[in-house]
Amino acid sequence: MTPPAKARVVIIGGGVVGCSVAYHLVKKGWNDVVLLERKQLTSGTTWHAAGLIAQLRATENMTRLAKYSQELYGNLEAETGVATGFRRCGSITVALSEERKEEIFRQASMARAFGVEIEEITPEEVKARYEHLNTADVVAGVYLPLDGQGDPANIALALAKGARQGGAKVLERVKVTGLRKTGRRVTGVDWQSEEGSGTIDCEHVVNCGGMWGHELGRMAGVNVPLHACEHFYIVTEYIAGLERLPVLRVPDECAYYKEDAGKILLGAFEPNAKPWGMAGIPDDFEFDQLPEDVDHFEPILEAAVNRMPMLAEVGIHTFFNGPESFTPDDAYHLGLAPEMDNVWVAAGFNSIGIQSAGGAGMALSEWMDSGAKPFDLGDVDISRMQPFQGNRHYLFERSKETLGLLYADHFPYRQKATARGVRRTPLHEHLKARGAVFGELAGWERANWFADEGQERGYRYSWKRQNWFGNAAREHMAVRENVGLYDMSSFGKIRVEGPDAEAFLNHVGGGDFSVPVGRIVYTQFLNERGGIEADVTVTRLSETAYLIVTPAATRLADETWLRRHLGDYRTVITDMTPGEAVLAVMGPNSRKLLQAVSPNDFSNEAHPFGTARDIEIGMALARAHRVTYVGELGWEIYVSTDMAAHVFETLEAAGEELGAKLCGMHMMDSCRIEKGFRHFGHDITCEDHVLEAGLGFAVKHGKPTFIGRDAVLRKREEGLRKRLVQFRLTDPEPLLYHAEPILRDGEVVGFLSSGNYGHALGGAVGLGYVPCPGETPEQMLGSSYELEIAGTRVKAEASLKPMYDPKSERVKA
Ligand SMILES: Cc1cc2nc3c(=O)[nH]c(=O)nc-3n(C[C@H](O)[C@H](O)[C@H](O)COP(=O)(O)OP(=O)(O)OC[C@H]3O[C@@H](n4cnc5c(N)ncnc54)[C@H](O)[C@@H]3O)c2cc1C
Repeated sequence: MTPPAKARVVIIGGGVVGCSVAYHLVKKGWNDVVLLERKQLTSGTTWHAAGLIAQLRATENMTRLAKYSQELYGNLEAETGVATGFRRCGSITVALSEERKEEIFRQASMARAFGVEIEEITPEEVKARYEHLNTADVVAGVYLPLDGQGDPANIALALAKGARQGGAKVLERVKVTGLRKTGRRVTGVDWQSEEGSGTIDCEHVVNCGGMWGHELGRMAGVNVPLHACEHFYIVTEYIAGLERLPVLRVPDECAYYKEDAGKILLGAFEPNAKPWGMAGIPDDFEFDQLPEDVDHFEPILEAAVNRMPMLAEVGIHTFFNGPESFTPDDAYHLGLAPEMDNVWVAAGFNSIGIQSAGGAGMALSEWMDSGAKPFDLGDVDISRMQPFQGNRHYLFERSKETLGLLYADHFPYRQKATARGVRRTPLHEHLKARGAVFGELAGWERANWFADEGQERGYRYSWKRQNWFGNAAREHMAVRENVGLYDMSSFGKIRVEGPDAEAFLNHVGGGDFSVPVGRIVYTQFLNERGGIEADVTVTRLSETAYLIVTPAATRLADETWLRRHLGDYRTVITDMTPGEAVLAVMGPNSRKLLQAVSPNDFSNEAHPFGTARDIEIGMALARAHRVTYVGELGWEIYVSTDMAAHVFETLEAAGEELGAKLCGMHMMDSCRIEKGFRHFGHDITCEDHVLEAGLGFAVKHGKPTFIGRDAVLRKREEGLRKRLVQFRLTDPEPLLYHAEPILRDGEVVGFLSSGNYGHALGGAVGLGYVPCPGETPEQMLGSSYELEIAGTRVKAEASLKPMYDPKSERVKA
């Protein structure tokens, strides 16, 4: 069939993901859908997947998508007549250490909060369910009865058939060779086949190119950071008498096992993966495999023979090595590419593309159809990627690690070891010389904590108190009781300037930007549902210029949100992030310290909370913003990068007498959670209504118009369905991280959106939403609360006001 001249959407790539996107778009009533596959459907990565289809992921929405895939695949055969081989065989994960046990038991608690059926099981119960397993050193296990497995190629073909039945044109042996663009839109797709070539004019393009996704992205001027890696499994000869078995994961040995038709498939997620395709993916790649590498697989096999002794008795039927794409953070890329307004991406599936395809296709089609994300997709939203992450050398280095991380211990605060040091602040060497232990965010090296003289400078990971717990506690208390200095240069800084800057911001943001020069506005950008798209502080620098300060990781997403709403406003948007360094000076003695290095007046009268002033500091000029994310008196000093080191040295020298302490990001997070400050992406997302998040004070619904205003007014009428509550464990020992279930009067009602330790409050602190339809705050707080940690329920105090300094007296001191 010759491709048509026009289509509403062209989907590039006929793997499981492209087929799922086509299937879901026709279900939405899009009847002008074209899918182009350069070779045959499934001939890229899909055909050789192992076919494990699990439900549980690290966050609620990712779990929701994986569960959706499961349910979809369960019904596909009846709908399309294509046998998908899908069956709910259940899965077992075993722990070989106490730390891994804590991880899988914490996951079990989380699973229950996400509505996934799961059981914690003893080694004896593991043995009863999987008798071939050597359980001598198994510490514990978890069993998910509804996990499944299926035939990946047939799942893709069933989706393609469903798409065709709905009117989509699914064309094979048609290669996309180029994309035509006008401004921020693709207008046509150039194709080539054995019969000829042509162009399809279209309104939307979806890049479902798998490991080709990076290259296809470049055609559209879109950054799709991913790199192919070799991924291995073996399949044994037929084993007579082998009964049907659940999928088995032994992450401590980097291995998974799947029984299929009397054979065992053993797959590996080894720590040092082998990147592949550095010179591009060969043009003739079609149902291809890569060369065996027995030496590379040997350690996995050796451990497997010990784990499952029957493997020593059977021959290996197949040694398989196939490429799959991996992304810098092990999460796939989904959504509207920031660089363009009609180029969509669903690629880079990190070895879970089969289990993810159904949900990804559903979510993307809803987003494309309605123009808005159906729910928070922050974990996978392509706008989380930084431009530099498209660098191929970076991707090559990082991909060696990401494959193995899938089965590594997912310790809290775990830092990536590869591809580090790309973005450094002007204070990097200063901090390093003073004991900084760095973590990475969006490529930025950030001091997470400071080691003492002679102390090991690195992380010792654990689910219990890690080696830096005491350091961070001292930094925390220095900020609470004296003064701390920390480098916040990684903040995203977006300058919005022009004659219409005020009007534009008043349209896009919930705050009131008609303020005097020097005023700082803390607010949110809302979507039409009142959900939070960005959490920002905006400083009026002049009549016509504002500076938006936003978290490092969301700079691109926020800038994109602004650009997409710019319309005809005469305003220029510029990323100023690397231009200014930011040094935070926080704590009750911060005023004293600044006064020692600057002739300016830092009193409440001269420099009240929520204002910015130009200052002299040392021999430099800077701008001091009186704001805080740690809940203390303090200033953020914005200084051009060339003078940052001088300002740092000046403050450090003056701080010696006061005992000022260098602090890191762990301190910042533990302080902010004590004060109940929300963390964007965790506590507040595009699906959390600003009023339910408790941030109504930051949006001025009295303004005549702004995006999301109607939703704010509606919610005021209707009342809140849920509220963000702060919890503190009364037992000072247990630790909270994320997603621990919240129990109200003994019933699970939600889970934590973030957690950390409150060193001043003397216990772990968490934030989480609690449903409260029609209830008053008093009724909510009248209940008794517990948080579940790895299966144990721990009593918690609950509060709607910050437990630390509820009246903000310290901030305004
Ligand atoms: C050994 C192994 C085991 C795995 N096991 C599992 C598992 O158990 N469970 C699981 O969920 N996942 C598993 N995966 C991962 C899964 O296979 C992938 O994530 C998934 O197949 C990705 O699908 P896709 O559609 O994104 O990519 P692909 O299947 O590679 O599809 C992309 C398609 O785009 C086409 N294309 C590229 N460029 C163009 C162009 N210019 N024009 C037209 N078409 C183009 C390609 O030909 C290709 O067919 C495994 C992967 C491997 C390698």
